[in-house]
Amino acid sequence: MIILWFRQDFRLDDNLALINAVEHAHNTDHPIIPIYTHDDHNAETWKAGGASKWWLHHSLKNLAQSLKDQYGLTLTYFSGAAEDIIERLITNNDITHIFWNRQYEPWRIARDTAIKATLKDKNITAHSYNSAMLYEPHTVTKADGTPYKVFTPYYRKGCLQMVGAPPEPAPAPEKCTLKTASLSCEDALTLDDLNFIPSIEWYKTMEEEWNPGEQGALKRWGSFLENGIQGYKEGRNFPDKPNVSRLSPHLHFGEISPRKLWHEAQAASVAQSCENDADTFQSELGWREFSTYLLYHFPELPHVNLQEKFNKFPWNNHTENDHLQRWQSGQTGYPIVDAGMRELWQTGYMHNRVRMVVGSFLVKHLRLHWHHGAHWFWDTLLDADLANNSASWQWIAGCGADAAPYFRIFNPITQGKKFDASGAYVRKYVPEIAGLPDKYLHAPWEAPDHILARANVTLGKTYPKPVVDHSAAREDALSAFSSLKASG
Ligand SMILES: Cc1cc2nc3c(=O)[nH]c(=O)nc-3n(C[C@H](O)[C@H](O)[C@H](O)COP(=O)(O)OP(=O)(O)OC[C@H]3O[C@@H](n4cnc5c(N)ncnc54)[C@H](O)[C@@H]3O)c2cc1C
Repeated sequence: MIILWFRQDFRLDDNLALINAVEHAHNTDHPIIPIYTHDDHNAETWKAGGASKWWLHHSLKNLAQSLKDQYGLTLTYFSGAAEDIIERLITNNDITHIFWNRQYEPWRIARDTAIKATLKDKNITAHSYNSAMLYEPHTVTKADGTPYKVFTPYYRKGCLQMVGAPPEPAPAPEKCTLKTASLSCEDALTLDDLNFIPSIEWYKTMEEEWNPGEQGALKRWGSFLENGIQGYKEGRNFPDKPNVSRLSPHLHFGEISPRKLWHEAQAASVAQSCENDADTFQSELGWREFSTYLLYHFPELPHVNLQEKFNKFPWNNHTENDHLQRWQSGQTGYPIVDAGMRELWQTGYMHNRVRMVVGSFLVKHLRLHWHHGAHWFWDTLLDADLANNSASWQWIAGCGADAAPYFRIFNPITQGKKFDASGAYVRKYVPEIAGLPDKYLHAPWEAPDHILARANVTLGKTYPKPVVDHSAAREDALSAFSSLKASG
């Protein structure tokens, strides 16, 4: 009996574990059983957040249907420590081979290494593959064998020059009816038993925006190739433009292959004469690679400042005021920040430009530890990803490997004016100030009283006054930063 173990690779296309398991089943005439294990036990702090669980439910449902339609297979679900589930399965069934795709979170590496050792002891062959990355983290190193810490040399030299273009994607196995069997196990669950859908229906607004699963991912990719990739290099900075792919949750859950994206972007660069746009898109995929690379080589990334000097940074205490709650709920009084935080709450997504603005606001204007931001994002983002989230927060806070310097403090007013000049983004998510003219939309406190009155805005009542003064907060942040230099 062959076990095909799905983890975060919910697609048929370019799924090397699936392709190889099916080939093995054809060659040996063994039955094949697909399983999914939900492992909060080993994930500990990093178990899936609320938004991720909503996505997971729909993505698994979609995968189960595809496996049934294409190969006549039934996906079986389990919950608990994966090593215990696998142990019980191999004790109670005649399993000879297990196929899976590799993942790179430190807790998964530790767990999978232990499982591989157990399987070896019991003469069961484990076959593992890379279906998640363009370049696996251990394959790229500097000439001296140490890991890169700076993105551009990592991507341009280490990946593209030294390793070369990523492999071409492989097609899904052809439709067929595979031999299957029933598993002897008492702990198998249904998808509904996993309880991923909360009883309070806060996810209704997400249902309107997203279509989890492989078909949804392919559709979104097709529409980005048609309407988004041309102009991506510039357009990706503007939250109201259609120039970002919004593929991040699909990529996180393995519903679309990064190899497919990379090669099809390459083809589009020729077909649509948009070389710079396609190159920028590929290099954003490169940032995804770099984050996973950093997490692999610096497993403490989610918890520990990569630049040690930040361990002494004088963060504000979040219990001393309501700043953290005001940031989380989009009530800071800075419209671009509030629009971003509300976009996140309503849709489970936030545009990258705005993620940088709200992140900088939290760690610099409010001087709250980046861990607070990372945890909030973890629970509310549909694309919450341990590598991307941790690396990006360290980048924003200035304490990461190749980070934005701490003194680069995003000005929420000029960022709003520059990247949301028409105000369409702010007006969508902060409707209570939609009536303000563009001139004052990103700084309502500068508007004369009669303009505020005409727009039905009463600061402090219908929309908050700024939680902190921008210039004063900026000065405080810079002086806190210079205290680090003084203390060495
Ligand atoms: C504070 C902060 C936290 C973040 N947390 C996450 C997270 O938990 N999960 C996540 O996937 N991304 C995270 N990002 C990175 C980035 O914001 C998102 O990947 C991007 O906005 C997703 O939108 P998109 O798919 O439309 O991107 P596109 O511009 O269409 O890019 C295509 C893909 O490239 C990758 N990518 C793009 N930008 C980045 C980046 N800066 N870093 C790493 N990968 C990137 C993503 O996989 C993305 O789907 C974070 C950024 C910041 C500043």
